[in-house]
Amino acid sequence: MRNGKGDATVAAEVYGELTFAGEIMRKHLPENVYRTLRLTMQHGSPLDPEIANTVAHAMKRWAIEHGATHYSHWFQPLTGSTAEKHDAFITPTGDGHAIERFSGDQLVQGEPDASSFPSGGIRETFEARGYTAWDATSPAFIYKSGDTATLCIPTAFVSWTGEALDKKTPLLRSIQAVSKQALRVLKIFGTDEGVSQVITTLGCEQEYFLIDREYWERREDLRLCGRTLLGTPAAKGHQLDDHYFGAIPERVMAFMAEVERRLYELGVPVKTRHNEVAPGQYEIAPIFENANVATDHQMLIMQILRAVAPHHDFVCLLHEKPFAGVNGSGKHNNWALSTDTGVNLLDPRDDAHTNMQFLVFLVAVIRAVDLHADLLRAAIASAANDHRLGANEAPPAIISIYLGDMLSDILEQVARGQAKSTKRGGKLNLGAHTLPQIPRHAGDRNRTSPFAFTGNKFEFRAVGSSASIAWPNTVLNTIVAESLDYMATQFERKVGKNPTPARLETAVKALLKQVVREHRRVVFDGDNYSFDWHTEAENRGLPVLRTAADALPALTARKAQALFNKYDVLSKRELQARTSVLLEQYCTIVGIEARTLVSMLKREALPAALRYQAELAGAVAASDAAGVDAVEARADLQYLVEQIAELYRAIELVEKAEGAGHEDAARHAARIRDRLLPAMEQARAISDALEQSIPDDLWPLPRYSEMLFLR
Ligand code: ADP
Ligand code: MG
Repeated sequence: MRNGKGDATVAAEVYGELTFAGEIMRKHLPENVYRTLRLTMQHGSPLDPEIANTVAHAMKRWAIEHGATHYSHWFQPLTGSTAEKHDAFITPTGDGHAIERFSGDQLVQGEPDASSFPSGGIRETFEARGYTAWDATSPAFIYKSGDTATLCIPTAFVSWTGEALDKKTPLLRSIQAVSKQALRVLKIFGTDEGVSQVITTLGCEQEYFLIDREYWERREDLRLCGRTLLGTPAAKGHQLDDHYFGAIPERVMAFMAEVERRLYELGVPVKTRHNEVAPGQYEIAPIFENANVATDHQMLIMQILRAVAPHHDFVCLLHEKPFAGVNGSGKHNNWALSTDTGVNLLDPRDDAHTNMQFLVFLVAVIRAVDLHADLLRAAIASAANDHRLGANEAPPAIISIYLGDMLSDILEQVARGQAKSTKRGGKLNLGAHTLPQIPRHAGDRNRTSPFAFTGNKFEFRAVGSSASIAWPNTVLNTIVAESLDYMATQFERKVGKNPTPARLETAVKALLKQVVREHRRVVFDGDNYSFDWHTEAENRGLPVLRTAADALPALTARKAQALFNKYDVLSKRELQARTSVLLEQYCTIVGIEARTLVSMLKREALPAALRYQAELAGAVAASDAAGVDAVEARADLQYLVEQIAELYRAIELVEKAEGAGHEDAARHAARIRDRLLPAMEQARAISDALEQSIPDDLWPLPRYSEMLFLR
């Protein structure tokens, strides 16, 4: 808190203070430059290179006022995190003095060494050249860390060959692709007046855990892998549901307030905070923004959460499943399409005409998800998310859509070619010609669905909590672009570009009927956690891809290549590169986990068990010497000795399965899935059983019961 004022007052005061946007931009730029830049930011007009010098100068002045000494091109390589290389503004003048310099050229382009970032084979290590290019559509910001401040410029990162080496470039391309196709649909409906682009809107709810830093320091698994590789669940979990939306502990509140203040300064519009399902689990969510800015802001949210936690003696765990048997963390990716005049295209309206348009967009998404469920599944695939998907408190690994009773019913009617009424009786204000009126929030909620329609947006819930949202949305935008292209093409063929309302209506009905019939199998309103759904999904022909190793190869299929290529989102080489980076990451991560597990078992679990064995043996020997038969203790000892022997064997199996293979990444991933992960599970199970019998003073690791309940 500043000046003794409440958080709310401070929040409004500092909002956007550290981001070069809005009023700050207007204040620092000449009027004409301001207007030009705003056109690029808000309506996607091409960037006028003439303005770069002026903008650079203004940014530098503003940043220096805030204590910045350096600037950095801030980008998102395929590692999944952000990267930055800082350059000082200061430039020696040769006469013993120095000036602070930052030119348009430095703003527009940077040249980091590309060889140390994953390129998936696009670049060899000796071909180091890569470029960062200013993304003027996402505001520059000042990142403060302790006493230092750095001007960060969001950039795209491409190789010397022009191929994308980052997550932002394809996202921007996909945003353009979906806009272009959506505009064609609007044109057919005659609703494109004054619209220069269709914007992808995104708001992501971020779940995370907080644990005491002291515990984190004592656990190698948390430090190296971000999740516990060992540990028995505490007696109390979330059975009582007493944590969800419960009162936020004071220490946590102080943490949240600091996080929010830092984010407000950066212009990240965070809005909600609450306790999540598991003990120690919380959520933060911003108000939605355009997908590109929302993605940059999402990276900042994760960065600030991690950075601020230690100020409060916490560590923030963003991993999808930090604790086995406890609710995992996701990132609910709320996605919609909106015109740049502010009309949400997924918002059902009262007017029947726009309503028809709404159904076209809705059905286009359904078609996209059905045709490319495998790609959406691949878009969220990671070693970490595998521990969450399919467990019985997270969305399953099967991609389906939840629409709710009313919309599902309407689609059924559409499929029969006679949508006339809404389900909830009464509202027959539709006449024979038009499609039904659809009240907002007509549907119930279904928390089990991986992809749910929630009134005026889709909520893609299978995205992992630690993931960058750039890639899932790149895929989502691209598959929807393809569907909108299909719909627009069909309409244009049937009715031309400027149809009469009556012809249009007939064409819409016919096409909706056909598409709904072809793709309604992907709609599932039931309980996604139920076992029956797996069988049912298989019967429906939906892809059931349980692990990342199963899911990622979909990206190499010809279908995927053709799709990304057609909409200029990723070339064949770029897609291949990305896929191999993802597969390699999967293998690397599980490899690190396996070695960490072995290290902890050998250095911590086994020695503790052996000490306890000695203690028990001593007790038994003492009893024998005293002439009493300690029957129970003897049995315990016997059992312990057997468990320890089993643990030795299990460790050996993990080591064997981990041993380096030289096959290609996809085979390696499959071997990890089939051999290494089960071996790790097995070793863990034995150790967890041991943990339960070993006394507190001998067990060296903080237990779940300690870590999950903050003091
Ligand atoms: P819910 O209660 O359905 O989860 P909220 O209103 O709490 O919905 O919103 C959850 C997230 O969805 C927020 O980040 C919000 O800004 C975002 N959101 C709302 N409308 C849209 C939209 N049209 N496009 C993208 N995200 C949206
Ligand atoms: Mg939600």
